[in-house]
Formats: sequence, C-alpha cells, structure tokens
Amino acid sequence: MKVRNYTSVCYLCPHCLEIGKNRLSVFEYSGKKSFVIRCESCGGTIARIDKNSTASYDVSVVCPFCKDRHNYDLTVHEFWQSNFLELACPDFENKLLIIGSDEFLSDGDPYDESDFSD
Ligand SMILES: [Zn+2]
Ligand SMILES: [Zn+2]
Repeated sequence: MKVRNYTSVCYLCPHCLEIGKNRLSVFEYSGKKSFVIRCESCGGTIARIDKNSTASYDVSVVCPFCKDRHNYDLTVHEFWQSNFLELACPDFENKLLIIGSDEFLSDGDPYDESDFSD
C-alpha cells in the first residue's frame, strides 16, 4: 500500500461559514501531541487534535450546525491514511470534516447547499 505524506481536511468553518481545505504534512504534524486546524479565511479554530496514545487521536470539532463541540476517536493511521473519511454531526448528520487524500477530495464539492439548511 502506498503511504501518503500528507492528509487533506475539508471543513465548513463554524465562524464564517466558508468552505475550505487544509493540507497537513505528516512530517510537520504527526509527531506533535496536539495541533489545531484553523480556517484559512478567518483564522478561527475548526478542530483540535490531541494524541491520546501513540496510536490514536481525539479529534474535537466545533460544529457549525449546533455550535457545540463533537469528539471523535480516530487512529493515527486513519487520520493520515484514509482516502475519504467523513466526520458528521450526531444531531444533524451533516458533515463537519472530511479527511482524506486529494484524489478523493476536490475543493468544496463534498459539501452542498443543503448542508446549510436544517
Ligand atoms: Zn472561517
Ligand atoms: Zn453538531
């Protein structure tokens, strides 16, 4: 299996409601105990990632739909090597974050307008 040296995160910013995508480098981030994903438009915090152990992350996402925080447990391997992984709001079932490779994520189109209405 091919090992990627980055993961891309598509988000819907809970602060300015812009859709964006950040590309994180394995070399820069995978050794850190915790890091934050920020909106490229407004600089607000989208998600915070804390390493629980050598093999798992606790991902805390600010939800644009219910304005609450949701937590997800992902393995380090899932975070860095998934091709397409959706983290959804448990209440509205809308996508909060999509984590994966650029081959499977193109800018913006994982989200559609219906994600903004409830
Ligand atoms: Zn923003
Ligand atoms: Zn939510």
